[in-house]
Amino acid sequence: MQGEPQTDAMVEIIGADAKGAALVLCEHAAHAIPERYNGLGLTPEAAVSHAAWDPGARDLAVYLADCLDGTLIAATVSRLVYDCNRPPEAASAMPEKSELIEVPGNVGLTDAQRAERTDTVYRPFCAAVSNVVAARQQRRQPTAVITVHSFTPVYYGETRETEIGILHDCDSDLADAILHSPAKAAERVIHRNQPYGPEDGVTHSLQIHGMAHGLPNVMIEVRNDLLQTPEDVADIGQELCAMIRPALIDLGLQPEGGANA
Ligand SMILES: [Zn+2]
Repeated sequence: MQGEPQTDAMVEIIGADAKGAALVLCEHAAHAIPERYNGLGLTPEAAVSHAAWDPGARDLAVYLADCLDGTLIAATVSRLVYDCNRPPEAASAMPEKSELIEVPGNVGLTDAQRAERTDTVYRPFCAAVSNVVAARQQRRQPTAVITVHSFTPVYYGETRETEIGILHDCDSDLADAILHSPAKAAERVIHRNQPYGPEDGVTHSLQIHGMAHGLPNVMIEVRNDLLQTPEDVADIGQELCAMIRPALIDLGLQPEGGANA
């Protein structure tokens, strides 16, 4: 990757000038809660649980961006403050409850409080993505939007069989190419639009950062028990890179051979 990490208050950008097509987004990268929100009234356990962030997702996103010579843009605050994969009008952008966890600091927010969070968390994240996309377009550099997430192995008491989900909205080109990759590990349980799909409202980033600009896009969800150690992250990262790279080449977004081979 090119360039030094830059950290704005609410957004982290690594490799802004990277040459590869991958623009890796990680909206749920962090569980930090700025002091002014008083921890949202969460218990210490809830504040670091999967409700607050996607454990392992940032590490995986960093790995993928590096491996694909791409750019990483990650949120630096908890999705319970503002979920950057949700539009401002969605209740789930600042949820009062997430799975089994109550979020006292999100109950009864005023319009002004919602607007403050939207302006200080969501808008800077979107602006960072727009700026990187615009700079790439100016350089005539192909871009594919790849959002990286992790999910809990047990949800509402149900164990999930899916290990990796390849998610898409109406534009499935990149997801199809990844799912058809010959590099797919035979024993890995990979499903299309699982454990979530567009009907769950999880494709907001794909819609506004990918589809709206005509950019190929995909969301990758990895079960978080597979991302517990740096070795886990490297294993899954390598598997995913081996599937994504030929998909980018297939779609004509990345040359075969050269620096990215
Ligand atoms: Zn997520």
